[in-house]
Amino acid sequence: MNFIETRGNDGRRPTSVSFSQAILTPMSSFGGLYVPATLPQLGEAFLRQHLGSDYKTLARAVMDAFETDVDGETLDRALARYDGFDDPKHPVPVVKVDEDLFVSELYHGPTRAFKDMALQPFGVVLSTIAQQRGEQYLILAATSGDTGPATLETFKNAANVKVACLYPDGGTSDVQRLQMVTEDAPNLKVIGIHGAFDDAQTALKSLLSSDTFQARLADKDSHLSAANSVNFGRIIFQQIYHIHSYLELVRQGAISIGDKVYLNVPSGNFGNALGGYYAMKMGLPVEKILIASNRNNVLTDWIRTGRYDLRGRGVVGTSSPAMDILKSSNVERILFDLFGPARTRELMEQLDRDRHYQLQDAELAQLQSFFAADYATDEEVESAIRETFAKGYLMDPHTATCLKAHHSCREKDLPDIVYSTAEWTKFSPTIAHALTGETDAHDIDALRSIAETAKLSIPPMIAALFDKPVTQSTVIDKQDIEKAVFAFI
Ligand SMILES: *Cc1c(COP(=O)(O)O)cnc(C)c1O
Repeated sequence: MNFIETRGNDGRRPTSVSFSQAILTPMSSFGGLYVPATLPQLGEAFLRQHLGSDYKTLARAVMDAFETDVDGETLDRALARYDGFDDPKHPVPVVKVDEDLFVSELYHGPTRAFKDMALQPFGVVLSTIAQQRGEQYLILAATSGDTGPATLETFKNAANVKVACLYPDGGTSDVQRLQMVTEDAPNLKVIGIHGAFDDAQTALKSLLSSDTFQARLADKDSHLSAANSVNFGRIIFQQIYHIHSYLELVRQGAISIGDKVYLNVPSGNFGNALGGYYAMKMGLPVEKILIASNRNNVLTDWIRTGRYDLRGRGVVGTSSPAMDILKSSNVERILFDLFGPARTRELMEQLDRDRHYQLQDAELAQLQSFFAADYATDEEVESAIRETFAKGYLMDPHTATCLKAHHSCREKDLPDIVYSTAEWTKFSPTIAHALTGETDAHDIDALRSIAETAKLSIPPMIAALFDKPVTQSTVIDKQDIEKAVFAFI
């Protein structure tokens, strides 16, 4: 299968590219993204056929349906990364928490957030393609806390790939920072920036669009790629768990094949939700996808009113920082799928230029036939954590944003699959505050108090962080980033 461009073709690039090419150079004409030219149709027969399949078998079948140019041996090696999850036979448990409320736990990988679901196999694929082509790649990542650890972990000691990861010093949780600064491999560089996540992100973007930077990289025989969800190499792995979660509900006797469900996704850059949308278009019986946000509720407004409006808005810090995003990258792929390349280019250019756009009524109706949305404040998130814990289930603040949408967005009494994107261990001070009222706890104290209150044990890879030597101690001003990156490569 080939990949085409969301904003149409500029006459200089190829009009369609292979999967490998789309993941090595993820940016397309006019600043657009790559999307599959068509989606495979899986349908009920596929669901029936995979009712007894384990996760890897299902995953391989979905990958095969996309007919990518990656060989089967590489795909199997990539999917074997799921063997490193808590339960290799069952990397994504789905837990019934309440009537019609199921939680699909996407955080059982090495860095305890859902980024591992895609980045673990993606790292193998990217590194293998780079080796087959004899090319060297540099991945530059800016992280607010989850992408960084997952990117470093997947590329640790990978051939033909180097990673430079920028994070806001003081802007992440202790666990997230330790996950990065204790990573020790010659192909990884972690750089703390004095400032907020936005400063790291903006500095990175200006570097990526700088011609002199590209030229200097070319001098070093290095190419630039990306590991965030603009890269379709991540999205392709994020469709599988939606299908898996549906099949789990069938296996648990909650639904029969063909019955509809809601998918409920805590959203930031919309990669997770886009995977659900594609799964739905491939034939998964989904009533609607519910988009949960925090106070940075630009997606809620977009889905309710058709207006995407950044004017007068700045990012506000919340207890679900991985969703503190206003320009949500994968919305572009939805626009393309619904309205085509010319309209997508028009809307995205309008957003860049005027900082807002408004969909027409007919367009909004189309959008609302797939999505509904709501957002939760930090107070609502803490109440949701407390109330769910009282029912015997502990969830992280990102997952907890879904509870509001669970109550407000469902028009039918159908089961709701809530995606849990992080383990409690990653955002322990917020959870400790919700459960015991304690404030300003350091992660280590919060972890211990939650473990005691909830009678859980701290998983070994988190407990070990506090004793590991810090190997990455670079913290710099943002104007020195380019120098630090070249010193590394
Ligand atoms: C990245 C992340 C999200 C947002 O996912 P998107 O695919 O960007 O919408 C939500 N929760 C957690 C914990 C994350 O790390």
